[in-house]
Amino acid sequence: MDVPLTLIGSGMAALGLVRQLRERDARRPITLITADSGDDYAKPLLSTGFAKRLPPERLAARSALEVADQLGVVVRTHTRVTAIDPAARRLSIGAETLPYGELVIATGAAPRVPFAIPEAVATRVFTINDLDDYRGFYAALEALGRPARVAIIGAGLVGCEFANDLVAGGHAVSLIAPEATPLPRLLPEPLGQALGAAFGEAGMALNLERHLTALEAQGSQVAVRLDDGHALAADLVLVATGLAPRTRLAAEAGLAVSDAGIRVDRQLRSSQPGIYALGDVACVAGVNAMYVQPLQASAKALAATLAGTPTQVSYGAWPILVKTPLLPCVALPPTQPVARWRIEGEGADLAALAEAEDGRLIGFALTGACVRRKVALARAAPALLV
Ligand code: FAD
Repeated sequence: MDVPLTLIGSGMAALGLVRQLRERDARRPITLITADSGDDYAKPLLSTGFAKRLPPERLAARSALEVADQLGVVVRTHTRVTAIDPAARRLSIGAETLPYGELVIATGAAPRVPFAIPEAVATRVFTINDLDDYRGFYAALEALGRPARVAIIGAGLVGCEFANDLVAGGHAVSLIAPEATPLPRLLPEPLGQALGAAFGEAGMALNLERHLTALEAQGSQVAVRLDDGHALAADLVLVATGLAPRTRLAAEAGLAVSDAGIRVDRQLRSSQPGIYALGDVACVAGVNAMYVQPLQASAKALAATLAGTPTQVSYGAWPILVKTPLLPCVALPPTQPVARWRIEGEGADLAALAEAEDGRLIGFALTGACVRRKVALARAAPALLV
């Protein structure tokens, strides 16, 4: 029997690839190995579930068993790959070794927590990066039986989306970040101020330009100490301080990696023959975009390559839609040096246009009613990967 094509991971990248492959090749043996439950779910929905009190099972479209059945693949759940031997084309799961024909690494990205979480508060401090994490946080909210006081550390995309969602769900949210405005890497300051104002009007407490100094147990609560000497009392703490591609397996196997992910070319080929990477873990020709459209394009291109038609992936000018209904935001962060930002609009309806020295549009950020300009502006902006 053929040695199977093996995928590590069962997130949107891995399952997207298998779906694309099955359209081209219904018979090839495929094995999927995943450290989690293997449920098929859309990760972007994690930060929209608390407003509607959606139980975790409502976020999973199908179970691992249904995935295996539907796609005709072998799925091994709650199974962590511990090593890859590219020369022998084998991988290890603890003491067990498994041969692979070709290997696709789709291990995603893990939360980056830049401080140690003290044991005394560990059961009340969370990150939410997959369905199992959502299960844990959802259970903690339900166990309280009343609206929670939640301190969120970090005001990037993930922190802001959960902040908006939890406030909409009736919880009392404090948002803590060292920057002066929310979404600092996506929104120039006037637009970030507009988002901060919308958050404030909804009752959120903003603790900006503040660093966390300690998390301490205080009865059944957590005292969140800040560098201005204040302490906030929280039932639960959500840490949203960024994600780092899970490159350890690849690095230990001798594949070329950087902080931005496993280095692959536009055919998603790593530095080792027969090993590919895609999704949040992959840095494709120098770009790791970490959102859905690029991974879908990568899945399509890699499926074609694996089915015998070598295909390069291209990324368009795909803006990021931030799920903050209190003030909708869209951004296409510039990837070239910005000569100036031109700000247009008024109130919370703002457009910030990033221009190169020669006046070319190289990125943008939009808030409120201006988000409807996204399609026209994206047409004029440069693609992420041509
Ligand atoms: P993951 O979904 O992280 O999957 C990684 C898989 O690898 C998992 O199955 C894991 O168990 C497995 N794994 C890891 N290590 C091992 C190992 N050693 N052995 C076996 N298995 C292993 N993007 C958008 O475009 N729009 C949005 O609105 C949006 N919202 C988001 C909201 C949140 C809260 C978050 C966290 C992200 C959001 N994103 C959004 C980003 C998007 O969801 C991700 O880019 C995408 O889901 C990444 O998919 P992935 O398959 O690469 O990684």
